[in-house]
Amino acid sequence: MSQNNLSFDQLLFHNSFVDELPGEVAPDTKPRQVPGVCYSQVKPTPVREPRLFAWSEELADFLGISRPPEQGPAVDALAGNLVVDSMKPFAARYGGHQFGNWAGQLGDGRAISLGELTARDSSSWEIQLKGAGPTPYSRRADGRAVLRSSVREFLCSEAMHALGVPTTRALSLVGTGDLVVRDMFYNGNPQPEPGAIVARVAPTFVRFGNFQLMTAAKELSNLRALANYVISRFYPELGEPSEAVYQRWFAEICRRTAVMVAHWMSVGFVHGVMNTDNMSILGLTIDYGPYGWLEPYDPTWTPNTTDFSHHRYAFAQQPQVALWNLVQLGRALTPLVPEVEGLNEALELYRTTFTATQQDMMRRKLGLLTVTLPEDTALLEDIHQGLTTSEMDMTLFFRQLSHVAPALRDSTQEEEPLFRQLIENASYTPEPSAVHDTLLAWLRRYAQRLQHETATGEAIRVGMLAANPKYVLRNYLAQQAIEAAEVGDLSLLNRLMQVLTNPYDEQPEHNELADKRPEWARFKPGSATLSCSS
Ligand code: AMP
Ligand code: MG
Repeated sequence: MSQNNLSFDQLLFHNSFVDELPGEVAPDTKPRQVPGVCYSQVKPTPVREPRLFAWSEELADFLGISRPPEQGPAVDALAGNLVVDSMKPFAARYGGHQFGNWAGQLGDGRAISLGELTARDSSSWEIQLKGAGPTPYSRRADGRAVLRSSVREFLCSEAMHALGVPTTRALSLVGTGDLVVRDMFYNGNPQPEPGAIVARVAPTFVRFGNFQLMTAAKELSNLRALANYVISRFYPELGEPSEAVYQRWFAEICRRTAVMVAHWMSVGFVHGVMNTDNMSILGLTIDYGPYGWLEPYDPTWTPNTTDFSHHRYAFAQQPQVALWNLVQLGRALTPLVPEVEGLNEALELYRTTFTATQQDMMRRKLGLLTVTLPEDTALLEDIHQGLTTSEMDMTLFFRQLSHVAPALRDSTQEEEPLFRQLIENASYTPEPSAVHDTLLAWLRRYAQRLQHETATGEAIRVGMLAANPKYVLRNYLAQQAIEAAEVGDLSLLNRLMQVLTNPYDEQPEHNELADKRPEWARFKPGSATLSCSS
C-alpha cells in the first residue's frame, strides 16, 4: 500500500459532468419529471450510523485512497453523511426500455454521484453512492439499498474485474445502521432489512438510456452536448465530434458491447436485467441486481424471478438482447447521424465482433490455439448440447478439463476413465446415466482434435488455466456471505473478496469455495432465484 494515499474525505474532487453539462439544482427530492436537464444536483440524505463493512484495497490504492477505520469522517463521506467542499453531488436523468417497453423518465432514483477523482495514471473516475437516499428520480421508492443487494453488487463488481470482464468497480461497502423495508418475494410480506451503501466507481455511469430520453423528449441540444461530453472525455481517440465521428463512436460502442457480452458468455454470467437503462455507454457491466452464475449449464436459465415467464434475459439470450438494446441506442442517435446506413454497419460490427470474440474465447478455454481446422466450428458449437444434457457445472467443467487436457493431448492415460471422472466431478446428474452419452461423444471428438495441437501438453494446461477461472461468485456463496453479514459476521464476505481477486489461481486452502453447488441451494431463494426488489 502506498504511503501517499489520502483519506477519502481529504480528496480533491472535480465535477466535469456538472460543470460541462446543463442541469438543475434540485429544490427538494419530491419525485417529478425534470425536462431539459442532464442531471439534478441533490445531496445524499444522512444515515444513522455508518460503518465500514468491506473495502477494495486494489481499487483504493489505484485511486490513491487509504483504508479508513470502521467509523469516522471517511466512512461518513462514503455514506453521504459528509459532503466534502469540492463535491457537487448529482443524480443523472435518463430513461430506458424495461423488458422491451419504453418506460419514459427513470434516472438515478437511489444513486448519487459525488464527483470525480484522478487516479495514479491520470485517468478520471466518477464515485457514485448507491442507496444514498431519494432524488427527483426516485418515483415511488425510497432511494435506499439493502445490505443483501449491496453485498452482491460489491463482491461481483470486483470479482468480474479480476476475471478480466469489463465492469464498473466498487470501492466500499458501508452499513447504514438504518432498516429498509422490502418485499423480497413480492408476496405482500414486506420485512425490515439492514440498509447499506456501495461506493461504485467508473469513468462515467452514462447509459444508453440517457440518450434515449433526450431524443424521446426532443431535447436535441442536450443530446448533442452529452454525446460531445462522452466522446471528448472517454473516446478522445475518435477526434472532434462531427457526423462521421458520431457514427464511428456508435460503432465503437457496438464493438465494446460485443466484447463485454462475449466475456459474460465465456464465464457463465447472467446479468438478469438487461434493460437499456442498465447498459453502459462505455461497454461496462453495470447495475448488478438479480444477476447469477450458471451452475448447471442451461442456456435458458435466468436468476430473475420477474423474468420467469418470458426468459427474455436468459443466458443464451444475452447476445441478442444486447443487439436489440444497441438498435434502440442507434435510433436515439439518429438526430446526430441521419445516415442510417452507418448505424447499420455498426450493428453489423457488433455481430462480427461478438462471433469472433466468443469463438476466440472458447478456443482459449479449450486450449485450441495453434491450428485452425475446418471441423473446429462444429466442435465449438456442439459443446453446448453436451454441457446442457449432462447438467455440467460450467466453471468446474472447464477448470477440470484444463487439468485433463495434457493427458488427452499426449495420450498418457486411457481416455474413458478421465471422461467419467470429469463428469462425476462436475455434473449435477449422477454417473452412470445415458444422458451423458452426448457429452461423452463430444469429449471423444475433443480428445482427437487436441492431437493436432502443436503446443506441449503443459503449455496447453497453463493456457487453459488462465482462461478458465477456478473461483466465481457462486450464487449460494454470495447468499451465505449475506446471511452472515446480516448478523454481524463479515468473515465470509471478506474471504470471498480476497479469493475472488485471484480467480485463476489455485489457492488450495480455499478449495471448498470452488465446490459444486450443494443440493440444499438448488431452489433456495437468493441462491437460485432473485427478485428485482433490492
Ligand atoms: P434497476 O432495475 O435497479 O436498474 O432500477 C430501475 C430504476 O428504478 C432506476 O431508475 C432506479 O434508480 C430506480 N430504483 C430502483 N430501486 C430504487 C429505490 N429503492 N429507490 C428509488 N429508485 C429506485
Ligand atoms: Mg438500473
